[in-house]
Amino acid sequence: MFIDSHCHLADEAFLADLPEVAARAHSAGVMRAVCILSADTPEEHVRVEAVQTAWPGVIFATAVHPHRAGPYEDRIGDAVSTVRDTALRVGARLLGEMGLDYHYDFAPRAVQQEVFAAQIRLAVELDLPVAIHTREAFDDTVRILEEAGAGRVRGVMHCFTGTAMEARRALDLGFYLSIPGIVTFPKAGALRDVVAGIPLERILVETDSPYLAPVPHRGKRNEPAFLSETVRQVASLHASAVEAMAGQIQTNFDRFLGAPRVDTLSKPVF
Ligand SMILES: [Zn+2]
Ligand SMILES: [Zn+2]
Repeated sequence: MFIDSHCHLADEAFLADLPEVAARAHSAGVMRAVCILSADTPEEHVRVEAVQTAWPGVIFATAVHPHRAGPYEDRIGDAVSTVRDTALRVGARLLGEMGLDYHYDFAPRAVQQEVFAAQIRLAVELDLPVAIHTREAFDDTVRILEEAGAGRVRGVMHCFTGTAMEARRALDLGFYLSIPGIVTFPKAGALRDVVAGIPLERILVETDSPYLAPVPHRGKRNEPAFLSETVRQVASLHASAVEAMAGQIQTNFDRFLGAPRVDTLSKPVF
């Protein structure tokens, strides 16, 4: 059984064929998935029920993405209350994706940092793990996790494609590393070397669907069914059988999530 630790099933890319996407995932052995819900995108919220119906094994995560941090300048509290409200409504088991993106710089960096730090404090308050998006911003990401997390934040670096040193720093924070389909790309030799060195008990895998389809589906819309390509690659890097790696990832995922909080067990009410 495979678990996709990060995908965007409420994205409009899946609007037309969600039941088929879920059926293909299940036939490929992908039985559980984390659906990332943009906390301030109402178009995604109205699809929550459809996602749950198509795929009951989905759990939700929500946050304000760094790309969307700009409008919260001078009203960081609004970002926090939007995330809190959405998380409670959908029964989120983690907060994400949140973080910093200095590659696109869609929002001013200072605002990205404030929105990120505020969400980390919320995660600590709610005792939920976080899924971190960090691009060309690793030092600031770690600094904010240390400052705002105060040793109490737990989480995963989503779509990890960093260096061995970055992996080490994330592991030192107690974080998990979620490996995307990029690890199957022919030119990703450096990433494969890094992944081979990550301790087995800290590895998760993801598709980030609809983005980043692995080989041999590269260039197409990605979907959770393609996760097996990534698991296969990670297993071979650790000289492990695919089934053993899948079992390890399942154990890791349950440890990462922790026990559900009583007040987040309610069904979505959208
Ligand atoms: Zn991301
Ligand atoms: Zn994502």
